[in-house]
Amino acid sequence: MKAKSPSFSITTASQLHDAIDRLLPLLRADAAHLPAARSLASAAAALPPSTLLSNRLLHLLSCHPASLPDAISFLSSIPNPDPCSYNTLIAALSRSPRHLAPARALFDRMPHRDHFSWSAIVSAYSRHGQPLDALALYRRMQQEPGNAAAADNEFTASSALAAATAARCARAGRELHCHVARRGIGAGDAVMWSALADMYAKCGRVDDARRVFDGMPVRDVVSWTAMVERYFDARHGGEGFRLFLDMLRTGGVRPNGFTYAGVLRACAELAAESLGRQVHGRMSKSSIGDSCFAESALLHMYSKCGDMESVVRVFEGLTEADMVSWTAMISGYAQNGQPEEALRYFDKFLRSGIRPDHVMFVGVLSACAHAGLVDKGLEVFHLIKDEYGIAHTADHYACVIDLLSRSGQFDRAEEMINKMTIKPNKFLWASLLGGCRIHKNVHLARRAAEALFEIEPENPATYVTLANIYASVGLFDEVEGVRNIMESKGITKMPASSWIEVGRRVHVFLVGDKSHPRAEEIYVLLKKLYAKMREEGYVADTGFVLHDVEDEQKEHDIGHHSERLAVAFGIIASPKGAAIKIFKNLRICGDCHSAIKLISQIAQREIIVRDSNRFHHFKNGSCSCKDYW
Ligand code: ZN
Ligand code: ZN
Repeated sequence: MKAKSPSFSITTASQLHDAIDRLLPLLRADAAHLPAARSLASAAAALPPSTLLSNRLLHLLSCHPASLPDAISFLSSIPNPDPCSYNTLIAALSRSPRHLAPARALFDRMPHRDHFSWSAIVSAYSRHGQPLDALALYRRMQQEPGNAAAADNEFTASSALAAATAARCARAGRELHCHVARRGIGAGDAVMWSALADMYAKCGRVDDARRVFDGMPVRDVVSWTAMVERYFDARHGGEGFRLFLDMLRTGGVRPNGFTYAGVLRACAELAAESLGRQVHGRMSKSSIGDSCFAESALLHMYSKCGDMESVVRVFEGLTEADMVSWTAMISGYAQNGQPEEALRYFDKFLRSGIRPDHVMFVGVLSACAHAGLVDKGLEVFHLIKDEYGIAHTADHYACVIDLLSRSGQFDRAEEMINKMTIKPNKFLWASLLGGCRIHKNVHLARRAAEALFEIEPENPATYVTLANIYASVGLFDEVEGVRNIMESKGITKMPASSWIEVGRRVHVFLVGDKSHPRAEEIYVLLKKLYAKMREEGYVADTGFVLHDVEDEQKEHDIGHHSERLAVAFGIIASPKGAAIKIFKNLRICGDCHSAIKLISQIAQREIIVRDSNRFHHFKNGSCSCKDYW
């Protein structure tokens, strides 16, 4: 259906002004109003010439991409175009990378360029992936006589800073910083200060960003929060937390929902559980509790720390659970090895009347995968498209492949991969590889590993998993081959570490680590446990010769992997019967998995291990993952 434009009869300038006002929103939304805009342009020709009117018409004609050619020819019909006429069109053209060249041609043709023109063209280049050209233009501006006074101000400087940021060029950024400081450009402008700090942080100079922050004349909650976030983004978690505490103590500003959400996300990432709890306590006191992103960050934090009880408590206390909270709840149960609960909450969610989105289904499908519910998983997979009209994403496919390959249904998995219309992602191949490891499927493991080598050639996990699969079926020449490739490419395994929080302190262990003050007690306990485990029929599984994780020389030392040291310390350092929670930066090894199952029984402790992949809840000799992970 074609939109009907209003009809205008125009005999005076003020009628034309009114007509432009009416047509502007219509044309912006729908190119069908272009003929009406053209008729206004021809009506103007009958009126006395006015640059103001011409510029308004130009503005109208540049408001839709389809009318840009009209705008260009209209500009050449204006008898005395001023900088504003050019600027209007340059700004419109620079919205799309396709029109960058005509925008530049217009810019070069302008008789007088002001700071709007410079700022528009500099940002256009930086936005459309040519930040170095943008910086070169800014330098040209500084050199052109007369510009220093007229155009070199906070607008053009901010555009240039954005270009330095986009180019990740700290040198250019620092030059700009010196330049604006020397000339006092934007000295009282909060936007300029935060642009400077962002530039340093994005260029990997978070300490310089901090210096800018420290020098800010006025710091509000937004600038504090941004600085805390810059530390987290730069993986300087400790500094981020310290600055957050400074903010509480001396900042003179109160954190808002964004601040709390950022800090909680970092707590989740670093599994800093007790800090997360303190943040939660503070949030409740400061009545920030009902900001919904802070609440979902809280759910996410508790679920990442393996504390589903707190997740449920927070969730049940929500005034209104939104999609993000439901998703956090369902994915939390899936990752924490309680897929039945995840599916129960999914049913509840469906009854709430909110329409599920594609992210929610990732949680549901991964619950099915963790529970080994093949039929249910496939049913949900089909539901996504047939019932909800949502296109399958690469993550959905990855979950289903995970489900099929964990249960050893490799034919179906392969068939699905071959029929996929979108490109499989790395999670899909990694899931397939993981399944091949469980079921010792060498043939498909090769295919998955090759695909992964292409996507992320530097990831040691792929090489190590492939080598382990080869080792498990006795193909030792192939193991050697993988080892050689790793060596020739200089790929090294990341050292494994496990950590545990006791008494508000985090204790970190490496393999065979003897640096802990209570190392002696730990090794004595491990020895005792080992003897009891042998009585229960435990035999160390040396099939994991090429351990994911550990230092090769110490491979014989399988009994002293970092996770076991952390578990033993947990038993010594926590009250009898208390649950022990361990975090590991890499995947738990198969032998430690069997050992910890037995330890949970012998020591009568619930042991929770969050590895890089998922949670394992060990209790009475078995694990929530049912030995598939
Ligand atoms: Zn191990
Ligand atoms: Zn497990």
